[in-house]
Amino acid sequence: MNWRTFIEDICDIIYPPANTCIFCEQENELVMPYNICRRCWDMLPFVRPPLCDICGKPIDSAKQHICRDCAEYSRSFIKAGAVLEYMPSVHETIYRYKYKGHSELAKPLGILMAHVVSRLAWPDIDALVPVPLYSERLRQRGYNQSALLARYMGYELNLPVLDKALYRCRDTKAQAALDRAERRANIAGAFTVKNLKYTEGKTIMLIDDILTTGATADACTQALLAGGARAVYVFTLATGVLK
Ligand SMILES: [Zn+2]
Ligand SMILES: [Zn+2]
Repeated sequence: MNWRTFIEDICDIIYPPANTCIFCEQENELVMPYNICRRCWDMLPFVRPPLCDICGKPIDSAKQHICRDCAEYSRSFIKAGAVLEYMPSVHETIYRYKYKGHSELAKPLGILMAHVVSRLAWPDIDALVPVPLYSERLRQRGYNQSALLARYMGYELNLPVLDKALYRCRDTKAQAALDRAERRANIAGAFTVKNLKYTEGKTIMLIDDILTTGATADACTQALLAGGARAVYVFTLATGVLK
C-alpha cells in the first residue's frame, strides 16, 4: 500500500462510500470493491471470447481470428482489451462518469479494470499512459477520465502512471458523429511525445474509457512509438460501437 491509497482508505473510513450501485444507482448489497450490486454484476456485458486477436472486440466466430476493422486497417498497437461491451447500461455509467462530474466512479471502475487486465497473458508492462484530453477540455471537465482510471489501475497493479508522456496538440471534433475514415483523419497527428525520458524503451499500456474504431488508440500508439516506446498495448473499460 502506498501513502495515497492509505490516505484514501482513511477517507473511506471517515466518509464511507455510499451503498449505491454504480450502474443502477440503487441502494443494494454490493460486490466489492467494485460498488456494483449483485443484480447488475450478473447482467454486466463482460467481454467474452471469441475475440479479435488484435483489437479484442467480440467477433462472431473463432475461425476469423481478426475482425473486419483490423483486416482493413493495420494497427500500430500489439493488442487491445477491455472489460465490458459498450451496451446501453455501460454507456449510462460512463456518461455519468465523464460528463456529469461523477469522478468518484474512477476508483471502482479502475480497480475492476486492473483486476481484469491482470488475468490477461500480456507481457510485462513498464508503465500506464492515459489518453490525454486537450487542455481546454480538461479545464471544462475538471478531470481526465482516462487519467483517473489509470491512476487507480496503477495503485492496484503497482505500475507507474505516466500522465505527462502524451500530449494532445490540438482539439479534435467529437468522434461520435464521424464515420470510420473521418475518425482516422480527424485524430491523426493529434498526439505527440514531448519528452523521450517517459517513453524510450518502454512497453506501455495505453488506458482509455472506450475503444470504438480504435482510431484514437492508434494515433496515441504512433506518437508513443515515435517517442521510442518498445511496444504499446491498449486497455479500455468498454469496447465496441453502442448498439
Ligand atoms: Zn445495480
Ligand atoms: Zn479487431
